[in-house]
Amino acid sequence: MPTSDQSPDAAAHPKFAGNSAFQLELRRRIDEFFERTGRRRRDCGMLYLKSILLLTAFAGVYVLLIGFAQTWWQALPLAIALGFATAGIGLNIQHDGGHDAFSERPWINKLMAMALDLVGGSSYVWHYRHTVLHHTYVNITGHDTDIDLGALGRVTPYQKRLKIHRWQHYYMWPLYGFMAIRWQLFGDYIDVIRGRISDHPIPRPKGWDLAVFLGGKAMFLAIAFGIPMIFHPWWVVLIYYATAGMIIGITLSVVFQLSHVVEEAEFVAPTEANRIENAWAIHQVESTVDFSRRSRLAAWLLGGLNFQIEHHLFPRICHINYPEMSKIVEQTCRDFGVEYHQHPSFAAGVASHFRWLRRMGLPDQLSHG
Ligand SMILES: [Zn+2]
Repeated sequence: MPTSDQSPDAAAHPKFAGNSAFQLELRRRIDEFFERTGRRRRDCGMLYLKSILLLTAFAGVYVLLIGFAQTWWQALPLAIALGFATAGIGLNIQHDGGHDAFSERPWINKLMAMALDLVGGSSYVWHYRHTVLHHTYVNITGHDTDIDLGALGRVTPYQKRLKIHRWQHYYMWPLYGFMAIRWQLFGDYIDVIRGRISDHPIPRPKGWDLAVFLGGKAMFLAIAFGIPMIFHPWWVVLIYYATAGMIIGITLSVVFQLSHVVEEAEFVAPTEANRIENAWAIHQVESTVDFSRRSRLAAWLLGGLNFQIEHHLFPRICHINYPEMSKIVEQTCRDFGVEYHQHPSFAAGVASHFRWLRRMGLPDQLSHG
């Protein structure tokens, strides 16, 4: 029962099994939880407070870096802090906004989603890549474009193995750093000009969407390069832009990889009739792994995305609620015999991702490519 299948080539995508008993019961229990506790699904005060803090931190660090840093040992930690603040804006503000999970008011969600345009991404492209393709078809090779890392990375048994993948558990980590720089400088433009994300057609932005796309990119170029170059030589600006960009890319990639690209996550392939054996909600749980569920700090900093199972089941509920919801989700999974996977810590997740990369780089019985 996909909830967000607005892809124009939906006919080419696989269909999930129709059994929805698990999803219906889960939804009933979560509805009951919100009724019983009186909590808000959206418009959570903590997220508004966190948004103000993150945007203020971003602006403050930016002004210090551009206007006050005199030496490399002042500029380097500020560039790193700017990278983390930007990643925080993505994980906490833009992600909830883009999923309509921030507020009941559509204009607030739209505005918060546009935080991505401010930091160099595109809320328009992200909607198709993330909300439509990744969320609906998570970990299905050829349909979830987030697990398509190009020729350098093999992360599912259904991708072709190349000799170079033998070393991917070492070299992928620094490469993750280029992800944000790639979408900031050319990835989004290529997707929009081609009207496709990988093999999946997307409508080209028009009117307001095109204005936000171009205006956002122009604003980002001014923030990242134009304004800093008034005060500093171009090569200094490039060094600190690359530093912040690497931090953003590594942070966002690692959070994503720990949730889906680890030993415990399922990677399934459609049958010959282009069907997925499991129902949509069961597939979401089994292809996703939580981590650090006991850490309030992790949930606060990562926009609740260490509770990725809950996010995939209820993407339109504000992430502030995920830690409490996760107890209900885990129990419901147990009641229905659905496997609920988690890592106790961030480090355990990193180790599992390392081992999965190593395994996918070796020729073994899992290879289908
Ligand atoms: Zn999401």
